[in-house]
Amino acid sequence: MTKKQKNLLLRVIVAAVFFVPLYLISEGIVPVSLPKWALLALFLVPYLTVGYDILRKALLGIRNRRVFDECFLMTVATVGAIALGEYGEGVAVMLLYQVGELFQGVAVGRSRRNIAELMDIRPDYANIENDEGQLERVDPDEVETDSIIVVQPGEKIPIDGVIVEGSSALNTSALTGESKPVDVGVDDAVMSGSINLSGLLRIRTTAEFDESTASKILELVENAASRKSKSENFISKFARVYTPFVCFAALALAVLPPLFTMVTGLGMAGYDGVGALWREWVLRACTFLVISCPCAVVISIPLSFFAGLGGASGQGILIKGSNYLETLSQVRTVAFDKTGTITKGSFEVTAVHHNPIDARKVLEYAALAECHSSHPISQSLRRAYGEKIDQARVSEVQEISGHGILAVVDGANVAVGNEKLMNRAGVAFLHCHHEGTIIHVAVDGEYAGHIVISDELKDHARQAMDALKRAGIEKTVMLTGDAESVARRVAQDVGLTEYRAELLPQDKVACVEALLKDCGGGKKLAFVGDGINDAPVLSRADIGIAMGALGSDAAIEAADIVLMDDDPLKIAKAIRISRKCLGIVKQNIAFALIVKAACLVLGALGLANMWVAIVADVGVMILAVLNAIRCLFVKKL
Ligand code: ADP
Ligand code: MG
Repeated sequence: MTKKQKNLLLRVIVAAVFFVPLYLISEGIVPVSLPKWALLALFLVPYLTVGYDILRKALLGIRNRRVFDECFLMTVATVGAIALGEYGEGVAVMLLYQVGELFQGVAVGRSRRNIAELMDIRPDYANIENDEGQLERVDPDEVETDSIIVVQPGEKIPIDGVIVEGSSALNTSALTGESKPVDVGVDDAVMSGSINLSGLLRIRTTAEFDESTASKILELVENAASRKSKSENFISKFARVYTPFVCFAALALAVLPPLFTMVTGLGMAGYDGVGALWREWVLRACTFLVISCPCAVVISIPLSFFAGLGGASGQGILIKGSNYLETLSQVRTVAFDKTGTITKGSFEVTAVHHNPIDARKVLEYAALAECHSSHPISQSLRRAYGEKIDQARVSEVQEISGHGILAVVDGANVAVGNEKLMNRAGVAFLHCHHEGTIIHVAVDGEYAGHIVISDELKDHARQAMDALKRAGIEKTVMLTGDAESVARRVAQDVGLTEYRAELLPQDKVACVEALLKDCGGGKKLAFVGDGINDAPVLSRADIGIAMGALGSDAAIEAADIVLMDDDPLKIAKAIRISRKCLGIVKQNIAFALIVKAACLVLGALGLANMWVAIVADVGVMILAVLNAIRCLFVKKL
């Protein structure tokens, strides 16, 4: 609890202790006779103790010309009740309203803290070695790229980097939601925010602190709460219209029926004179005000979304705003990129064919030409080459997305890429009948053969498609730049409903646009990519999901949802989380509106007094908040 909440709790307790005996006296249950003024003065003590801040906010609201809010409703209703001599009810309403506020404050705080705990990845310091070989703690902000930092067992890795010495197991659960430790050793890349469990590690940093995974994720999560969903916007607009409406309705209720009775004389017999008539209707109007306080809906909707975002991030699914949660729940078509999304993107070289020059030399040209690219194919070729690459041998590198690479290596013009690239370079190439992705290589316009590389499916690719089908996804489409034969094979193996092959990045955008047209009618399309040259499609789809995008800045920026551990099974999980969350939001709205409507009718008919009204209001709110908190629990979903 915060200091403010503790203070409120104390005030509530003091006021309640004061209130109960006074109420018993005023109702004649405890036979003590007090003059009316004394009773009023005594009741004002708990009233002001517990409600002075509400009164103050209402006055401030009037001064700032933002009159109609909950504080105003409560103030008018309770002051009205007290003025009419219903001291007990007036004080009770204020007291219970504050109990509700207290509860809500604690619940919001709890879910916020829950997220903060899930996101307990903010590194506080980095260890560097000083000249005497001693460890020194420094602010991670001060560590430059390419420095060596030391991470001891039990410490958080502060900055992204590559291990240069030591081996250990890392706990990456705060980042990926995966609780199994990951074994790492020399040359492995590590992400900031992981916790070093067993061995001492020396790490060469590959980024600055601000550009590291942990910082990026924290920034993302902090911004998420400010992107409001349609439901939330609706609610704040609704409250803006609703509250004044209720106030005027209450005024009408206080004035029109008694005027009508007085003018026509109808029903006058039921009242003990004109004063009693007015008193009755003003009291009903006050009750009506209490009933119509919209707090349950207003508070529980943002809280549900907030909890949903928190629950998802605990599972390694980062959602950039509650609006995306809402869209995600309506997704019926999922389009995928192939490399890095359905397949691992780590190709093995299986053969080198039709090479007039030495196979090793073909690989060397390819690896050198690819030395700057971050495409999975490039990384794989460099890995297969295995030797250190002297970048001075390479110049004029040109990466043509969806085609390949043109570069000058050792003074020769080298082209490395697919058939499209060969056509573009005007090189006659040979078709390959082998299974796999074919990378053709040409040197100085002469065909130098092709490298056959093959990729593996991700472990959960098949299960992921099954899970999507079970979640009611109608269409799963793969869009790839790779060859038809490879695409067909992958589509069959994982059970996709459709695929399109040999697409350039711009063709992928066109495909997504065509798919979007097919969707319509509240059905949404999600695109899942690994971020390497899919940024345009990621932002074009209704919702862009980036896979294992922790490395790729473009994807983090373009995507709406980031799956931190590459696991395609998380797509279906994210959809289920969004549905649960939206379901809870709808339950809360329906529940609150039904109870409110019933109370309003009863109140207008004079069948519900203020007690009923406030108990209903606080009750609905507490139930709605408890229901909203359920959004946090999504582990088993
Ligand atoms: P995907 O849809 O599988 O992610 P891309 O659009 O990234 O594919 O690439 C499509 C095709 O273009 C690849 O299969 C490959 O043939 C060729 N290509 C793209 N980039 C490169 C590269 N850096 N080196 C060689 N070939 C490449
Ligand atoms: Mg790709």
